Amino acid sequence: MSEDVFKKIVSHCKEYGFVFQSSEIYDGLSAVYDYGQMGVELKNNLKKYWWDSMVLLHENVVGIDSAIFMHPTIWKASGHVDAFNDPLIDNKDSKKRYRADVLIEDHLAKIDDKINKEVEKAAKRFGESFDEAMFRQTNPRVLENQTKRDEIHARFAKALNDSNLEELRQIILDCEIVDPISGTRNWTDVRQFNLMFATEMGSTADGAMKVYLRPETAQGIFVNFLNVQKTGRMKIPFGIAQIGKAFRNEIVARQFIFRMREFEQMEMQFFVRPGEELDWFAKWKEARMNWHKSLGFGDHKYRFHDHDKLAHYANAATDIEFEMPFGFKEVEGIHSRTDFDLSSHEKYSGKKLQYFDPELNKSYTPYVIETSIGVDRMFLSTISAAYAEEELEGGETRVVLRLPAALAPIKLAVLPLVKKDGLPEKAREIIDNLKFDFKCQYDEKDSIGKRYRRQDAIGTPYCVTVDHQTLEDNTVTIRYRDSMTQERVAIDKLSDIISDKVSMKNLLKTIR
Ligand code: ATP
Repeated sequence: MSEDVFKKIVSHCKEYGFVFQSSEIYDGLSAVYDYGQMGVELKNNLKKYWWDSMVLLHENVVGIDSAIFMHPTIWKASGHVDAFNDPLIDNKDSKKRYRADVLIEDHLAKIDDKINKEVEKAAKRFGESFDEAMFRQTNPRVLENQTKRDEIHARFAKALNDSNLEELRQIILDCEIVDPISGTRNWTDVRQFNLMFATEMGSTADGAMKVYLRPETAQGIFVNFLNVQKTGRMKIPFGIAQIGKAFRNEIVARQFIFRMREFEQMEMQFFVRPGEELDWFAKWKEARMNWHKSLGFGDHKYRFHDHDKLAHYANAATDIEFEMPFGFKEVEGIHSRTDFDLSSHEKYSGKKLQYFDPELNKSYTPYVIETSIGVDRMFLSTISAAYAEEELEGGETRVVLRLPAALAPIKLAVLPLVKKDGLPEKAREIIDNLKFDFKCQYDEKDSIGKRYRRQDAIGTPYCVTVDHQTLEDNTVTIRYRDSMTQERVAIDKLSDIISDKVSMKNLLKTIR
């Protein structure tokens, strides 16, 4: 996949009503997007897949929906006011601002690419006898690049850990990293920047309180920990799940819905006994990877990326990365957050946030494992994996979204062969019977071939054509999106044929 495919996916999303630029008629608002009529269905299905996998399938995980506005001291306690800053650097010629860590990470990725190309070339040259491990250990060009990469990486990790901004800048200079726009190395110093949006609550300017739009949903869970534990009579270990909007004033807002200023998160905080957190971390790591892989896009598209620099609250952290058209990128973070958040809220609020463990006969502040996934990044990874351009017999091409049927926005399209002879009425009758179970779409415009193409492009797994024979014997032609094969079936069999395949339940059952 390439940037070129990525551009096509972005325009496909717009053309078929999945994602629109926000405020488009006013020339847009940067890094803010709206979901259209198809997008909202896919997004809701993704959220349901996540929610059910957490709350339905785990007796000890419950959900909440906390407010976006919270007491401002919460963001002091979480560290967002003081510590959550990104290191930024400006290019003096293009006047563009970048995240210094992202510039260096991109540079490292380029070296990786060079190494991989070298390996691929050799693999082609040597054919079956190729020993990749040996090649990587001995080829001078690979070795040289690998050493260079390891050195930069070690400096980078140390600079991040020490929050050494000068060293970050020096790495950018030493690596001769240029601004992609101006092509120059005319960089400013690296500075810290806070990502939270602030606004005012209350009417008068002097009496108003500064509040923030939440930059993550997690804190709404922590401050409700005791409410849920007590009212739900929850016993540790247990989890609280939440889906909701989060806001970050991102500096480098690019790559479509990958990095937005208003986005949605699906987070689950799992409360455990101190000392057991790393076991639970390993369990959730595996569980979350299985959830992703169950979508059937291919296991090779996912990988873990363990963190070099642990956030101030974590004692273990990993990302689940997905192979986007522009490379492997983080879709989900899994963090062992220790008792940082609960302890900090105890300190700032002066309220006890402890759990009395009847088995151990003592009280403690629980440790927390967090799984945090961006709905929008999940959406982007799903569309990217599903998007395919195919050559058909006769030189025609089609664009098809090979979405898992349970996620598809429309499950069934019902198409009368012609707009007369009672066929439209018959088609509507079918929809009226099935619409309680499946999202259906009626389409009578253009040739059947064109209508199939439109449904392929939005990922509809089933199309049903109503023709003159239908009026005689109550049968229709059902056409399958992926194989494009067709068969004649009785109308009263449709529900059975479709139900199994589009059922969220069956998708959930595939999670290992
Ligand atoms: P990144 O390093 O890419 O900025 P992060 O590590 O800051 O991400 P987390 O704070 O761990 O992200 O948030 C959890 C998840 O929320 C991420 O894995 C991602 O899917 C999603 N997310 C975070 N920031 C954004 C954003 N600006 N736009 C869309 N999704 C986001």
